[in-house]
Amino acid sequence: MFDTDIFVLGGGPAGLAAAIAARRSGFRVTLADASEPPIDKACGEGLMPDALHAAAALGIDIPETAGYAFKGIGFQNQLHHVTADFPNGTGLGVRRMALQRLLAENAARTGVELIWRTPVTGIERGIVSLGTKRMRSRWIVGADGSQSSVRRWAGLGDYKRNSLRFSYRRHYGVEPWSEYVEIFWGEGFELYVTPVSAKEVCVVLMTRNHHRRVSDALPDCPQLQAHLRGAPAVSTERGAYAAMRRLHRVTRGCVALVGDASGDIDPITGEGLCLAFRQAGALAKALKAEDLCLYESAHRRLSRRPRWMADFMLLMDRSTFVQRRVMRAFAAHPRLFASMLAMHVGQSSPIQFAATTAALGWRMAAR
Ligand SMILES: Cc1cc2nc3c(=O)[nH]c(=O)nc-3n(C[C@H](O)[C@H](O)[C@H](O)COP(=O)(O)OP(=O)(O)OC[C@H]3O[C@@H](n4cnc5c(N)ncnc54)[C@H](O)[C@@H]3O)c2cc1C
Repeated sequence: MFDTDIFVLGGGPAGLAAAIAARRSGFRVTLADASEPPIDKACGEGLMPDALHAAAALGIDIPETAGYAFKGIGFQNQLHHVTADFPNGTGLGVRRMALQRLLAENAARTGVELIWRTPVTGIERGIVSLGTKRMRSRWIVGADGSQSSVRRWAGLGDYKRNSLRFSYRRHYGVEPWSEYVEIFWGEGFELYVTPVSAKEVCVVLMTRNHHRRVSDALPDCPQLQAHLRGAPAVSTERGAYAAMRRLHRVTRGCVALVGDASGDIDPITGEGLCLAFRQAGALAKALKAEDLCLYESAHRRLSRRPRWMADFMLLMDRSTFVQRRVMRAFAAHPRLFASMLAMHVGQSSPIQFAATTAALGWRMAAR
């Protein structure tokens, strides 16, 4: 009856992870993408330790040799600098094209049928149109990114958006100077730096002002500017929207959405890839049980913590007053910053989570 069990539309990290997880659960899986590997995209290129664990749980090994390991996160503003180590291992900075290629190779080895350079032009009642070709599939997975067409075609386009920013990414040829992903908090923008190889860093600007570029923001971060002085830009600047978008539903009939197609989390959290890998695992389980309601509830649960962290960081972005208070509290009590990072990577219990939040509120209020 069906040409394939599962048709995955989109060969970014979310689509490839979903295809691998479904194939490993015994399904016949076909994946199509309009582009071909290695596919590039504006990304901070930092995989937190929880993202590496989530990938490993799907049977995806991302070796340390694929990028550059970092041991934690640093926050910096004009007055303060604070760092904390991850409590659960190291993170990895990996060039986006290298990550996409690695995932595509894994999918091919796992037995996913891959169709590149082929845009999907529509879906209707389990039939996927690829130009003039049609394929009948039991399930359809929309992994076509934040401007998802599947979302629209399946009538899942209702969403609540509470933030829209702009992001620009650029690589510089310089030896990483820090073992941390460093976030520089400016007034109305952030610049963050991920080491991606022994001779390259990835710099991302997040801003509400779409006219501002990385080079415009650097003079406001003299420490960062000093590190980059004389370093050649080794990639062209790539831009992307950075939204916070929550969908009312992520499944309908035989269609399920994963990754950015299923809602966006502001990139400042660096949790997008981890979330995509976790969603892929949850979706495979729900498909195996033939019950997409399981995925619907897992999706809500998985998004909760990253959304909370994104809301907190967006508050720091919106208000210089809040940002200064938070930075002052973290600089005076570095263990508070370490607890916050543990929360961020899912290493604290609900009680520790509540205690850290209360302690931060208290320290911010203190004179
Ligand atoms: C500036 C920025 C920095 C970020 N930094 C980080 C970070 O440091 N760490 C982290 O974990 N996350 C980060 N993220 C988030 C992360 O990049 C995303 O969550 C992730 O890329 C989502 O992948 P995806 O597969 O859902 O979508 P995408 O990577 O956008 O893939 C969608 C794919 O679908 C294909 N497609 C679309 N329409 C069609 C069609 N009709 N037919 C066929 N193919 C189609 C496209 O060609 C594309 O390959 C960042 C995001 C941004 C914007």
